[in-house]
Amino acid sequence: MRTEGLWLKCDACGQIIWRKALEDNLQVCPKCEHHFRIDARTRLGLLFDNGQFEEFDGSLVSTDPLDFVDSKKYTARLEAMQRSTGLPDAIISAAGNLHGRRVHICALELKFIGGSMGSVVGEVITRAIERSLAGRIPLIIVSASGGARMQEGAVSLMQLAKISAALMRLDEARVPYLSVLTDPTTGGVTASFAMLGDLNIGEPGALIGFAGPRVIEQTIRQKLPDGFQTSEFLLQHGFLDAIVKRADLKNYLAEALDFFLV
Ligand SMILES: [Zn+2]
Repeated sequence: MRTEGLWLKCDACGQIIWRKALEDNLQVCPKCEHHFRIDARTRLGLLFDNGQFEEFDGSLVSTDPLDFVDSKKYTARLEAMQRSTGLPDAIISAAGNLHGRRVHICALELKFIGGSMGSVVGEVITRAIERSLAGRIPLIIVSASGGARMQEGAVSLMQLAKISAALMRLDEARVPYLSVLTDPTTGGVTASFAMLGDLNIGEPGALIGFAGPRVIEQTIRQKLPDGFQTSEFLLQHGFLDAIVKRADLKNYLAEALDFFLV
């Protein structure tokens, strides 16, 4: 998305769009329906009734368990991200009403180190699952993530198992969990909770995958088909249950919960 003051150009169709028109259309291109990325807080505002919700676990921060340094110290990276996003880590955990029904919604924040899942994201999601379980409150997770957080190494990988085990308990208790996969959802997030919903729902045109296409091509030594790793391709091949436009998502989730909770 290239911006020029009040106007911006759609990445997909090249149309010049008035920024206000894009906002009014939930950040979806009015011409070609390209779904622009939106941040976690905007997402929660769109899904909860009157845009109102309470937040949980906002005081959890990473302790940098590996004392990790890449091009800069992980602690410095975290601080910079916390300043620029106003969030302690790459997730907001919230509860409120969706068409009058109480739900928990966790939304990942792509702008915070690529929405990557480290110890904090793992713990925040696990606690949300446990609250859902205790109160028999449906859970929705909206993913936007590059996967596990490299800077926390094996600690981030352990989150996959921890979250998956907690989701299994939720499943055994018959409390619904709906997963919404937005652009992009990849790596360890796809390999765990994003694909474990009672329904796995993609936004149109989202990049969804595990490894990147180049790595796969090098591994299997085959050319990959067109549109590989898009929502549409995954729906066609049975990895998603539905593709739902952003404007229809709230109604769709409400109806799905009605169905699961009769
Ligand atoms: Zn467009």
